[in-house]
Amino acid sequence: MTRSPHLVEWHPASWQSKPAAQQPTYADKAVLDGVVAELSRLPPIVVSWEIEALKEHIAAAQRGERFVLQGGDCAESFDDCESDKIAKKLKILLQMSLVLLHGLKKPIVRVGRMAGQYAKPRSADTETRDGVTLPCYRGANVNRPGFTAVEREPDPQLLLRGYERAGLTINFVRALVDGGFADLHHPEYWDLDFVRHSPLKAAYEKIVHSISDALDFFEATSRRPIHEMNRVEFYTSHEGLHLHYEQAQTRFIERQQRWYNLSTHMPWIGMRTAALDGAHVEFFRGIANPLGIKVGPSMSAEWVQGLLATINPNNEPGRIVLIHRMGAKEIDKRLPPLIQAVRATGSPVLWMCDPMHGNTETSSSGLKTRRFDNIVNELESSFRIHREMGTWLGGVHFELTGEDVTECTGGARGLTDADLARAYKSQVDPRLNYEQALELAMRIAGLHPP
Ligand code: PEP
Ligand code: MN
Repeated sequence: MTRSPHLVEWHPASWQSKPAAQQPTYADKAVLDGVVAELSRLPPIVVSWEIEALKEHIAAAQRGERFVLQGGDCAESFDDCESDKIAKKLKILLQMSLVLLHGLKKPIVRVGRMAGQYAKPRSADTETRDGVTLPCYRGANVNRPGFTAVEREPDPQLLLRGYERAGLTINFVRALVDGGFADLHHPEYWDLDFVRHSPLKAAYEKIVHSISDALDFFEATSRRPIHEMNRVEFYTSHEGLHLHYEQAQTRFIERQQRWYNLSTHMPWIGMRTAALDGAHVEFFRGIANPLGIKVGPSMSAEWVQGLLATINPNNEPGRIVLIHRMGAKEIDKRLPPLIQAVRATGSPVLWMCDPMHGNTETSSSGLKTRRFDNIVNELESSFRIHREMGTWLGGVHFELTGEDVTECTGGARGLTDADLARAYKSQVDPRLNYEQALELAMRIAGLHPP
């Protein structure tokens, strides 16, 4: 296979010579430049050795030795940066990971869509309401959701506000995790109230008890605590969409002699910005982080091969996570040829299923929603197809929240279109609520016997 030639030497701003999709147009470039300069001086959100640790875990997951759970909001909002909401999101991810650990009998790598998921790709640059056309809402790092010209004007200062909230979020998550909040000996610390009133209560408690018993047994027989269980590792991710923001937090680390994007552990490239000759691919080929790449129904064999050759020319383990999001209807047709195309490159990849983005539809009342059954169907098909093709599906990617929202239909409580209006809070894509998220983890644990 030919490697694509790179005429431009890579540096953190080399993407600027390529077409950059999904970027806001700022009225005053000098203000933006000032903000980027300030962000470049501020301390990083994460550090390179954490990124390298995650890369090792992903390499292990590529070999079938671990399983990755990635989840969080479609977009974080600045208003949601509060202790209760962050703790609840962490709790649901921990609970899901416990269920997965129990079902899959493999260490679970936890990656939150958190601490920086503030920029969104949109299908149109503008939005029209009642004959008025304004720039679309591109996420809290860019502009404001209200439908007035002032609120929709891209504001570079928001990048600093987003950086600060990312810092506040990760600071709180680190403190909780380090303080024993996530200790597997004490899952009651991260109990969510709802479990007590949920149809899933008995099944969840059975899993918790069985893990506690297993821990007690191992500790009693080995006469020492299992240290790995005292503390879990937790990583962050967001879509690496806003390239000025990503560039500003990208630093050369002497110790590793490589460039790292220190705004998050694992950025990903969305479907809409994965053009081979585009600015995003140019930016991401130069950093050492593990990188997610979303692959949807329009991804061709040549395209995915070109992406792997450009972004991972040395076939580095742990570097690439291919997040397929085909939709329950398309997956049987689309996934097998993609697996074959990737196999032909020899590049190690972690296969991950995002059963959310290919299954979005509009409810009878006009709200964006997703049906729980379609999500489960896409997951079931993914596990089956990978098994048939001899590849390991080593991760899942969900949009979820630790709260009791009504954005997706179905699940144990059988939410219908009529329930959606009750607690529909997302500004963007519909999320699984805590109960639907936990149920999904249980379905996976059952689906994928070790
Ligand atoms: C997302 O993950 O929120 C998203 C926009 O995904 P995709 O690029 O797969 O459509
Ligand atoms: Mn989304």
